[in-house]
Amino acid sequence: MLKGKSALVTGSTSGIGLGIATGLADAGVNVMLNGFGDAGEIERLRAELEQRTGVKVAYSAADMTRPEEITRMVEDAETQFGSVDVLVNNAGIQHVSPVDEFPVDKWERILAINLSSNFHTIRAALPGMKRRNWGRIINIASAHGLVASPFKAAYVAAKHGVVGLTKTVALEVAETGVTCVAICPGYVRTPLVENQIRDQAKVHGKPEAEVIRDVILAAQPNKRFVEIKELSDLVLFLCSPAGASISGSALQIDGAWTAR
Ligand code: NAD
Repeated sequence: MLKGKSALVTGSTSGIGLGIATGLADAGVNVMLNGFGDAGEIERLRAELEQRTGVKVAYSAADMTRPEEITRMVEDAETQFGSVDVLVNNAGIQHVSPVDEFPVDKWERILAINLSSNFHTIRAALPGMKRRNWGRIINIASAHGLVASPFKAAYVAAKHGVVGLTKTVALEVAETGVTCVAICPGYVRTPLVENQIRDQAKVHGKPEAEVIRDVILAAQPNKRFVEIKELSDLVLFLCSPAGASISGSALQIDGAWTAR
């Protein structure tokens, strides 16, 4: 169904992005990976995914804080694959601090990576999608795109911004074959969350298992992490014909966290 299409997934050298890129490649979609990490390890990942799935897998080291690198990344993907049909804005970072102590450089960096990079990829990829009258823009927001938690001012502000951007883009492309959706996951056990578990264990002086139950999953009523595969399967569903009318939505996949 998706065979022959091409995708760009930002922040896909790790965690959720890597899972989504793998799911797309397994479905026959060419994929451009992006993100930081050890160059040898990333090349091993890229080559292994390409060999196993038979699709083209490319890599861009573009830094999501740099608009000109983002534009070049989208152009590179279009040159290498012929199109970017599926754009997954996934790159993201976190920093936890009271708002009056929040480091200004961390605020700027989180806003740039978690929010502004979505604007820059969308503005670069959308003209091609409109021309071909087909496209899927999937922004990985968060439950924190819909509700807040203390000490996450920049992350919560950026993710609420992603939900707003998603709605605006969806309205602008509504009469085309392009859709724009935000996915709002609860906690997923990735390196980003492993760091929070470690930090919170230090702050509370508790073992990590207790921190997971009492702090991290305190707001997640089903008391389990969302699986990366659940997210990559949702992305494939949104890319299927069944996803054609799902646009402008913020889809919770959070074990009822935001039902409260
Ligand atoms: P992760 O730390 O495992 O992966 C983040 C990816 O972003 C990595 O590939 C990293 O190299 C890349 N990245 C970071 N800064 C970058 C930059 N400047 N330029 C390019 N790439 C950069 O994190 P994750 O948990 O997989 O998070 C992925 C997305 O999912 C984020 O947007 C995050 O906010 C969102 N999310 C995560 C959770 C969770 O519980 N893990 C929950 C909800 C939403």
